[in-house]
Amino acid sequence: MRSPESRREELKAVWHQAQACTKCPQLAATRSSVVFGAGNADADLMFVGEAPGANEDRQGLPFVGQAGRLLETLLGEIGMARSDVFIANTLLCRPPGNRDPLPGEIDNCQDWLYRKLELIEPRVICTLGNFATKLLRADPGTGITRLHGREEIRTIGPRTVRLYPLYHPAAALYTPSMLEILRADFMRIPELLALPAPPQPAPEEPELVVPEPEIVAEVVEEREPDEVQLGLF
Ligand code: URA
Repeated sequence: MRSPESRREELKAVWHQAQACTKCPQLAATRSSVVFGAGNADADLMFVGEAPGANEDRQGLPFVGQAGRLLETLLGEIGMARSDVFIANTLLCRPPGNRDPLPGEIDNCQDWLYRKLELIEPRVICTLGNFATKLLRADPGTGITRLHGREEIRTIGPRTVRLYPLYHPAAALYTPSMLEILRADFMRIPELLALPAPPQPAPEEPELVVPEPEIVAEVVEEREPDEVQLGLF
């Protein structure tokens, strides 16, 4: 078990590495900043949106425009603040002209998201809108209209979490009926946070390195067969 301090230090190191990412040459050429994500590095609750927009690209922070203000209002209504949660996106960089993220870009960026999950260790992840929901459920065929407000336990990369898809706040800004659904779904977040953390997958076994056998000139003594089978030397 790593301490919150060591996870936070490693998250900072990952932040530094991400600043130099050029896996998507077009995005790297057009961005003003890499929007890594921001918030509480030890948050139980994490939000994953789509991609930075113009404001986020300018400030280097996620959800700082109108959609971000709505997200903060909805958090306030459940007694939480931005500083209680961690907010990230499926992409670190703004797609030019706010076009949709391309599948190749989402693929390239996935590992950054997984590193964040591994180090922040959230228990509940709210996906905001279709892109994050389809990515984290690994199901491109089922959209947010069917899935919003239905929690499920999912293993995402290194972490098992309660995944809770929500409408994207930017979509709710202009559609009052969607805002009411988003607000009602939000109201259930405290209940999900109060549930016990889902069991985590077993850590990957380190690869066994078998040393090259030494070539000895002569056999000094015979060993009993059961000694050999039990690995006694
Ligand atoms: N929309 C998103 O999906 N992410 C942001 O950071 C801002 C707006």
